[in-house]
Amino acid sequence: MLLEVKNLAVSFSTYRGKVKAVRDVSFSVDEGRTIGIVGESGCGKSVTAHAVMGLLPRENSIIEHGKIIFKDKDILKLTEAEMNRLRGNEIAMIFQDPMTSLNPVLTVGTQLTESLFLHKRLKKDEARQKAAELLKLVGIPSAEQRLDDYPHQFSGGMRQRVMIAMALACEPKLLIADEPTTALDVTVQAQILALLKDLQQKFGMAIILISHDLGVIANLCDDVAVMYAGQVVEYGSAEEIFYNAHHPYTKGLLKSLPRLTDKKGEPLSVIEGQPPDLKQAINFCPFAMRCTKAMRICAVQMPAVTAVNGGHYVKCWLEHELAPKEDF
Ligand code: SF4
Repeated sequence: MLLEVKNLAVSFSTYRGKVKAVRDVSFSVDEGRTIGIVGESGCGKSVTAHAVMGLLPRENSIIEHGKIIFKDKDILKLTEAEMNRLRGNEIAMIFQDPMTSLNPVLTVGTQLTESLFLHKRLKKDEARQKAAELLKLVGIPSAEQRLDDYPHQFSGGMRQRVMIAMALACEPKLLIADEPTTALDVTVQAQILALLKDLQQKFGMAIILISHDLGVIANLCDDVAVMYAGQVVEYGSAEEIFYNAHHPYTKGLLKSLPRLTDKKGEPLSVIEGQPPDLKQAINFCPFAMRCTKAMRICAVQMPAVTAVNGGHYVKCWLEHELAPKEDF
């Protein structure tokens, strides 16, 4: 397995108390595979990704426990220098907003060649040539000339292509894409997803795709982890999650997707309520206050993980044979 995240828990100290943002998260991804992490804002998906990249803010983040095994090494035990060698080289990341992720005062060429100097020790001419090849690879016309342009001279979709080119510069084994298409319009979104799929086939890298959009996840992922309140509440192949979802939260997310068959004027389905306060200890089902299927046990005991099908797991008392089925 290329990457295994095991029982990861991450907290942040804030002046209002400790926020337990990620609670016992486990998942894995192998070369050439894509795992989607889905859930609403604040569920811990980006914090998980930043932990894998070693990009959590040093001043207030705490890794409570867990392991992040990348190529048989726990990267939580690496020194800063070792992590710097890995980051941008073997593990790369694409961020949500390409405008704020690119440096506006440096040309695209300068930004693209930086990691090639740093990790691949290329000479100036070689790095420039490689950078032009990368821009061409991600579908930017007149690549050679565009190296001297600044980010504001590119459209939103083109900037995201530049970000992808930067991430791929050192041919990483693992690419983390954190909401890579959220800031783009729908047609550009489809082009970027097709590009990612194409590049994955070319390089055989693993992808962790983070999104709140199940449509995006369906397009690209082999496996899906559904996160809620810092926990993975359902995990399985994309087919299982989309066609055989068991957790009421996953079902709610799927129901809230707009469909072409929806009647005109009909309001979209929503999941009522708010996630729990992550500063509190949660010793019960975190979805209990929003769940239409909640039972008495849900409010007093954390649900156990139950295997539904080969490789499909759900954290819900409804699936557990020992749970007494009484109304909440
Ligand atoms: Fe709903 Fe209970 Fe399942 Fe939680 S454990 S999702 S409250 S049925």
